[in-house]
Amino acid sequence: MSQLRTPSLREMIAGLIHAPSVSSVNPDFDMSNLTAAERIAGWLDGAGFKVQLQEIPGHPGKVNVIGVLGRGPGGLVLAGHMDTVPYDQGRWASDPFTLTERDGNYYGLGISDMKGFIAMAVEAAARHKPGELKQPLIVIATADEESSMCGGRALSEAHLPKARYAIIGEPTAMRPVHMHKGILMEAVKVIGHSGHSSDPSLGKNALEGMHRAIAGLLQYRGELEHKYHDHHFKVQTPTLNLGHIKGGDNPNRICPECELHFDVRILPGMSVEQVRAEARERLTAALDGSGFEVEFRSLFRGTDPLQTPGTSALVKAAEELTGHKAEAVAFATEGPFLQKLGMQTVILGPGDINVAHQPNESLPIANVEPMLKMLEHFIQRFCVTSEPA
Ligand SMILES: [Zn+2]
Repeated sequence: MSQLRTPSLREMIAGLIHAPSVSSVNPDFDMSNLTAAERIAGWLDGAGFKVQLQEIPGHPGKVNVIGVLGRGPGGLVLAGHMDTVPYDQGRWASDPFTLTERDGNYYGLGISDMKGFIAMAVEAAARHKPGELKQPLIVIATADEESSMCGGRALSEAHLPKARYAIIGEPTAMRPVHMHKGILMEAVKVIGHSGHSSDPSLGKNALEGMHRAIAGLLQYRGELEHKYHDHHFKVQTPTLNLGHIKGGDNPNRICPECELHFDVRILPGMSVEQVRAEARERLTAALDGSGFEVEFRSLFRGTDPLQTPGTSALVKAAEELTGHKAEAVAFATEGPFLQKLGMQTVILGPGDINVAHQPNESLPIANVEPMLKMLEHFIQRFCVTSEPA
């Protein structure tokens, strides 16, 4: 019955591609995701799900979709973000908002990252009725993963959803991922004061202060590299990159202010909060007694690392179904928000990260049926036959 009220998978994929939902920290590109959200909500409603549109405080026009079928203490979440990155106008071979098929691929903005997966999750979910389920099946579509992660954060602050397992369909080329690094992006500003270069006593040179600050930061980096190590990752230590610096104007003026932006990629077992506090401590210590003022700012709130143990029932099931050992990847996801709610979380999706965030984003049509079959297996195992934890 429910299948009759949900459009075909191809229609759902086309419907999501045709609902622009760019998210960006630049307000010129940022869009509401309401059209995409209402479509997903309508399909889930048609399939018998209890559906909630969660408004996101402080982000008007942005919502999460939460659809729940069945009830129980365990259960499975299928999650994806509705938003896409902005696109390069004129560099696409076809309209980025029209689903196009050629050479065995689907093309469209977000097809791989990750509107294709969301439609597949709805399709797999719609094949089940509440009566069949011993544990809940939950479909989540979030806002703004590509920019502020406000959607994932709003879920975790509302303690939603509740389940034991979660699959996030980010593009992993059908291979399970159980670990990724976390990210912080921070700014530090050193403030002195200006004066004529001919007499250093007239000013206080912020570039010289920054020199001390950078030395402190690089020493901290050395300690992080020494202290933390994880062989699962290609780059096995935390990294700290100096990415941007701005200060001064003229060679004959003492530089009054200098600002540096840096990022830190942290390993499982480390947290954004801890590393942010330590980095600030080191910078403060490096400038201690120098007479410079120092100001700190976070360029975004940061993403924690993800780590789901290899012994997790979900990791094992994913390895069995895909025939691949679970891996660690370099990109971050909303996984840590779900992990904090107590869910064993695996990243597994049909798209390929190598085609995401660029013109002519594609998804191999040959991956669609195998992905659907896998989702059905997961639902069967974690919702229908009610696997113990
Ligand atoms: Zn993504």
